[in-house]
Amino acid sequence: MLKRVLIANRGEIALRILRACREADIETVAVYSQADGEALYVQLANRAVCIGPAPAAQSYLNQTALLTVAKATGCDGVHPGYGFLSENGDFADRCGQEGLTFIGPSGDTIRKAGSKSVARRLMQQAGIPITPGSDGPVTSEAEALAVAAQVGFPVLLKASAGGGGRGIRRCDDSGQLHSAYAQAKAEAMACFGDDTLYVEKLVLGPKHIEFQIAADCHGNVIHLGDRDCSIQRRNQKLIEEAPAWCLSAKLREQMGEAAVAAARAVNYEGVGTVEFLLDRDAERFYFMEINTRIQVEHGITELITGVDLVREQLRIASGLPLSLSQEQVCLSGHAIECRINAEDPQQDFRPTPGKVEFLHFPGGYGVRVDSGLYNGCTLSPFYDSLAAKLMVHAPTRLEAVRQMRRSLEEFTLEGFPTNGELSYQILYHPTFIRGNYTTAFLDENLPRLLDFSRRLNQEEEKG
Ligand code: ADP
Ligand code: ADP
Ligand code: MG
Repeated sequence: MLKRVLIANRGEIALRILRACREADIETVAVYSQADGEALYVQLANRAVCIGPAPAAQSYLNQTALLTVAKATGCDGVHPGYGFLSENGDFADRCGQEGLTFIGPSGDTIRKAGSKSVARRLMQQAGIPITPGSDGPVTSEAEALAVAAQVGFPVLLKASAGGGGRGIRRCDDSGQLHSAYAQAKAEAMACFGDDTLYVEKLVLGPKHIEFQIAADCHGNVIHLGDRDCSIQRRNQKLIEEAPAWCLSAKLREQMGEAAVAAARAVNYEGVGTVEFLLDRDAERFYFMEINTRIQVEHGITELITGVDLVREQLRIASGLPLSLSQEQVCLSGHAIECRINAEDPQQDFRPTPGKVEFLHFPGGYGVRVDSGLYNGCTLSPFYDSLAAKLMVHAPTRLEAVRQMRRSLEEFTLEGFPTNGELSYQILYHPTFIRGNYTTAFLDENLPRLLDFSRRLNQEEEKG
């Protein structure tokens, strides 16, 4: 087993990794920027080293600083978490060159999966269904137009290196594609340092269904069930549930097999996620992307499978076989996650970082909260706005929904606005309760949900 791991991340995921390491008797070295000196994960790590100023480019993305600290503190492994350097193949390679075990797939696998246009081509070769669209990247506006004309509008122009819901533009006709092309290219360069674009047909009213996968260095590849992540705002997930309520046993089996085949097609090693779009009317699914890292919403899979996915990452990186076989994976009950973000839905989701004046997390049977916040701490404006992940697990979906409602009622965060109230409204919406919502649900229902919250608050104020 690994002996000492550098955690190249921050916030709740650094804490999650640290806890798994401690349980496995692995020492932890935390790194932090000048904005994170008071963070909980910094206080709980065996050692913590400041690696630079607040902007991520000068701290959490500074590869040389991270590698220097890892070596100087005698680490043998590096855990990248999610975001930051977790999907940077060159960083994975550099860790290897320095004699450090990168806790994730090889640099080669990360590069293949990380370029969405390359991944599409590989999946097609492996016989996995992909959305109609360009065969690899498009190199000019004329080519993008030709592809769009062939597959039919509406299409999406997508950044090949995109992530976090950014770098995706909808084009309903050739005029829109013309005006979007140059902008999308410039934006992709600015956000991801890579202006490669590709074209995908827009699947109308789809569900976002993803499969958790795990693969070891002995050739074993399994999947740990599915998640429905269709409650999204601007292509970013807000509420997730596991398993996906809508999947027939037949589709679940087909998609699970496709997920394992996708992992094999890029020589996957580690835990990861294969994302699909599901067109329920046509009963068809399409490969979307592979995320070569631990996912924000991994906790709900842990709740329904009983498998500690971070521990599994540590085992795989240490060269051990997977702790279970496909036949031993058993999905039990239903889990839901709400992402509580420091943002104000009433003000176009303006980020609202600030000081936590009072904090109370829900607890009780079936409730799990992953968060780096504590009373009196400050949520920094320099990084993403995730404040807490509320998770529940119950025998049935309806019980899980009720548990999440009461968890949200109990959850108290004073100091800045969050999206907690909005999530609460969603949990009462008939479409959510029926479980047949699509990725279009939130954008379509947002005005009414927000209006309802506003009126409730006004009535409360009146007393
Ligand atoms: P998940 O699929 O696990 O929900 P998200 O898409 O929400 O993941 O991304 C998790 C975190 O990683 C977010 O902070 C997001 O901004 C960041 N992220 C994901 N992909 C990229 C990328 N290609 N470049 C920069 N940040 C990214
Ligand atoms: P990211 O790397 O930012 O997560 P994805 O390719 O996974 O990018 O897409 C993010 C979201 O955008 C998906 O979850 C889905 O809601 C939407 N999306 C992406 N491609 C399509 C498509 N072809 N048709 C419809 N929706 C799509
Ligand atoms: Mg995605």
